[in-house]
Amino acid sequence: MSKNTLIIGAGGVGNVVAFKCAMNKETFGNITLASRTKSKGKEIAKNIKKRVGVKIKTEEVDADKTKNVIKLIKETKADIVINVALPYQDLTIMDACIATRVHYLDTANYEHPDTAKFEYKEQWAKNSAFKEAGIMGLLGSGFDPGATNIFCAYAQKHYFDEIHTIDILDCNAGDHGYPFATNFNPEINLREVSAKGRYWQKDENGKGKWIETEPMEIMQVWDYPEIGPKDSYLLYHEEMESLVRHIKGLKRIRFFMTFGQSYLTHMKCLENVGMLGIKEVKHKGMKIVPIEFLKTLLPDPASLGPHTKGKTNIGIVAEGFKNGKKRKIYIYQVKDHEECYAEVMSQGVSYTTGVPAMIGAKLMLDGTWSGKGVFNMEQLDPDPFMELLITQGLPWKVMEMEA
Ligand code: NDP
Repeated sequence: MSKNTLIIGAGGVGNVVAFKCAMNKETFGNITLASRTKSKGKEIAKNIKKRVGVKIKTEEVDADKTKNVIKLIKETKADIVINVALPYQDLTIMDACIATRVHYLDTANYEHPDTAKFEYKEQWAKNSAFKEAGIMGLLGSGFDPGATNIFCAYAQKHYFDEIHTIDILDCNAGDHGYPFATNFNPEINLREVSAKGRYWQKDENGKGKWIETEPMEIMQVWDYPEIGPKDSYLLYHEEMESLVRHIKGLKRIRFFMTFGQSYLTHMKCLENVGMLGIKEVKHKGMKIVPIEFLKTLLPDPASLGPHTKGKTNIGIVAEGFKNGKKRKIYIYQVKDHEECYAEVMSQGVSYTTGVPAMIGAKLMLDGTWSGKGVFNMEQLDPDPFMELLITQGLPWKVMEMEA
């Protein structure tokens, strides 16, 4: 029986998800792309028709209100909602899925607009409601979180008896030609990068603790395959919160992301003058939120596609024991920005997020992944996901390293 797929959010990631779902129409059936601004969805639908030959529907929705999403789910008779709007809409869309008993997937965990802090607490709290509704909620099915969680689960399943340390390594060596721009939603990106860093470690008594660092305090140079050595800074990243729960024997987990000096200098300057502020300020009698105004000035991430050159490399390094022997492996994925644009008219960061979102939804719709409740990626069998990464545009490699 033909399925109905509802995608919410027609930004950079939404574009890739819509393209990839259309390319896998046998699974996704009738596709609707809904967003706050209908014209954005229409533009994507036009490009998909032209390039893939598949017609998708578009709708306008303000997903900040659960009742609007419920109405849209009923109208489209959706079997799954793929939420690629912003993290602020996670809870309202989840509530709509509970009310209509429809599966849910997202790529980023809930963030309150007024606090630059993200955590799974509110989404995990919906586990019993998802169970009672008999539906599955898949959290964080992008690249990081997403594919990185799956890489950890794959390492745990096939390479280790026990994993002791994990470093997640995210490098974007793309150049978009602008003095300053962000590769995904600027507000979400700058809030994440300017926040304090955090990593998790067990102390001598075996008790796990989060250790806080100043923003950009810890840096290491990592030699990324197919890219080369890059300054990589320790950040807090959401997948660590679920991985510390699910990876056996873990003693430490950290997350590193590359930044060039020019990006960091721009960001520091914007921060120093108050442009990253998330609280309202008065300007000529009007109330504005500085970071929202900054978003208006910066290039739209969805528009960076045609200009971005270079590669991304995201992966995990895991160290631990197998059959009593030390082992260290690196699982990584390299993607070329221009290749992404040629395929789906998008740069690599949106591509590497959108493809895993489509894959997660595909596995849920065809029943390969099933369950009632709310799940993080590493709780599911990594093998079918890893296979689809290869065939859907994100082939990966495993490198044995000296332990
Ligand atoms: P964009 O800002 O490009 O797109 C977001 C889209 O959501 C816009 O089209 C916007 O519409 C729409 N939207 C915002 N608010 C609402 C609302 N209330 N109702 C309906 N639609 C709304 O962001 P990206 O595409 O770059 O990112 C999408 C998501 O992917 C984000 O949650 C981001 O955090 C996540 N992400 C995850 C990654 C991962 O690896 N896991 C990596 C990168 C991103 P409008 O334009 O009309 O405002």
